[in-house]
Amino acid sequence: MARGYQGEKGDVKALAMKKWFNTNYHYLVPELEDDTKISLAGTKPFDEYLEAKAQGVETKPVVVGAFTFLKMARCTGKKAAADFVPDVIAAYGALLEKYAELGVQWAAFDEPYLVYDLSAEDIALFRTLYTGILAKKSGVKVLAQTYFGDVRDCYTELCGLDFDGIGLDFVEGRLTGELLNKHGFPQGKTLFAGLLNGKNIWKNHYETTLARLAEIRELAPNAVLSTSCSLLHVPYTLENETKLGGEYKAYLAFAYEKLTELFELKALADAAGNAQAALSANKELFAKSRRGADAAVRARVNALTDGDFVRLPAFAEREKIQKEEFALPLLPTTTIGSFPQTAEVRANRAAFRKGVISEESYKKFNKDRIAECIALQEEIGLDVLVHGEFERNDMVEYFGECLNGFIFTEKAWVQSYGTRCVKPPVVWGDVSRGKAMTVEYSVFAQSCTQKPVKGMLTGPVTILNWSFPREDISIKESTTQIALAIRDEVLDLEANGIRIIQVDEAALREKLPLRRSDWKSEYLDWAIPAFRLVHSGVKAETQIHTHMCYSEFADIIRDIDNMDADVITFEASRSDLTILDVLKENNFRTEVGPGVYDIHSPRVPSVEEIQTALRLMLQKIPQEKLWVNPDCGLKTRGNAETVPSLKNLVAAAKAVRESL
Ligand code: GLN
Ligand code: ZN
Repeated sequence: MARGYQGEKGDVKALAMKKWFNTNYHYLVPELEDDTKISLAGTKPFDEYLEAKAQGVETKPVVVGAFTFLKMARCTGKKAAADFVPDVIAAYGALLEKYAELGVQWAAFDEPYLVYDLSAEDIALFRTLYTGILAKKSGVKVLAQTYFGDVRDCYTELCGLDFDGIGLDFVEGRLTGELLNKHGFPQGKTLFAGLLNGKNIWKNHYETTLARLAEIRELAPNAVLSTSCSLLHVPYTLENETKLGGEYKAYLAFAYEKLTELFELKALADAAGNAQAALSANKELFAKSRRGADAAVRARVNALTDGDFVRLPAFAEREKIQKEEFALPLLPTTTIGSFPQTAEVRANRAAFRKGVISEESYKKFNKDRIAECIALQEEIGLDVLVHGEFERNDMVEYFGECLNGFIFTEKAWVQSYGTRCVKPPVVWGDVSRGKAMTVEYSVFAQSCTQKPVKGMLTGPVTILNWSFPREDISIKESTTQIALAIRDEVLDLEANGIRIIQVDEAALREKLPLRRSDWKSEYLDWAIPAFRLVHSGVKAETQIHTHMCYSEFADIIRDIDNMDADVITFEASRSDLTILDVLKENNFRTEVGPGVYDIHSPRVPSVEEIQTALRLMLQKIPQEKLWVNPDCGLKTRGNAETVPSLKNLVAAAKAVRESL
């Protein structure tokens, strides 16, 4: 189910994989077919409960709750989720009966779906499910655990059901405190108060938490102190970070350290044990001013005015100027930035990092690759070239390493999917650009050709979204700081003769708040301006590109247009191109390059299929606005498939161009 199967017994696609709410963790989407029979089958929660119990530890088994499961499963046939309700109730009921038999005291059902905007039908479904399931409690205490937001649409219903405990998120749940104050908390139930951030890596501010806990206990006297969500989203422990200075480590708490925090806070709240020293140390830590503040950066952010977020002249005029400036053919061809990262490219970076080779020979190797890459693109016949990104391990880490204000861990890995993990950089202090980050390689690449070479940067929203953000200043302010640093690089590239600059915002779409009602005020209102700040200072004839990895932005299409880039490329070949209708209906003015082939597979697309895709696109997109490019960067591909694929892309573009 995870990998798909291709062999003698058939050809079965893998299950779809999606991001788990607003995290970078992915889950396989369960599929319910018309003849799927849902019943209790596995024994994992029982085995693990017994294993811990044998070691003398009473645990609280946790499984995804029935409502979240049904809402996130995909029905593939004629049946809808509601048709599976009786089976689901029976299966979860059987689970509870088995728990009772084993002696489980508390069982948790994770119901994060409750933090989305809910319809009346959703709430009815939730009620039906749990009225049925909770009738089978058999003496086990059941906790409904929510996280990643507040449950404003169903708080009273949640309190009215026969749960013994309710878990609420006080960190991401903006309205959780308000809900509690307004409606109170049902007597006799236990509140699991998620007061420690389960998603970030900073130490908890004890005084604040203790004050909030005291308030909460007035409404819910036997409240349980907890993290805001599962600890899956933070790394294990600081213990193995040998290179990070103590000055930094003093502020960090990974999963194990958060457990210590829970113990200390509980002791302090109950005035039990001897945790006073921990409180004093915590107070002292937060009273100290943390190194990393940069007055110049703060002043620069404060001095920004509305005009700094507006690029002039307006798009229509720029478009005309740029058409003349570049004199590109119709349907210009380009790529998204990276070229295959061969073993030698990676070995060169590793050797330099380990100090085995000099900086000079490291750079020379990269420049040789750039020269080859430019020659290859000229031979293939692409119109706008790239340098290939051979110096980059990762599109966020690279910039994090170049900018002031970031720190890096050795082993702070977080699961992304399966055995894949990511190691996000940490935004530590105020961010600024100390020195040029990409100018040398871009200028070198441009010196190898008469054709325009795109400068290649990662945008501020993506840098922030794929890092651990600060908690001592707002995300908006942090992003603005990063935007100013990237802006400096944009202007530097321009001053050094780079006439097209791409600023990737691969992760802009994925961090949209879970509730639609929060999209604007909580996110788009600062994320889109941050992007505009990056490029508002360039000349009319400098062309700004951006790239996004998902095309699922039908709902925010105006905001995407308001980024005011000159060209946007995005992933499109795997989706059914419905985005094209949306572009047309909204008179999308930014020029667009919907990817014409899927780079996630080694398959080489034929000239004919790319032509077909282009003709389809031309039905919805004016010909003078259409670009031709792959879906995304080529770094995970090999040269063997990349070269023929790009040749076919260029051949298809030329053929269609001639027919226009
Ligand atoms: N410019 C980057 C690349 O080509 C973009 C990667 C991405 O969108 N994830 O690799
Ligand atoms: Zn991409």
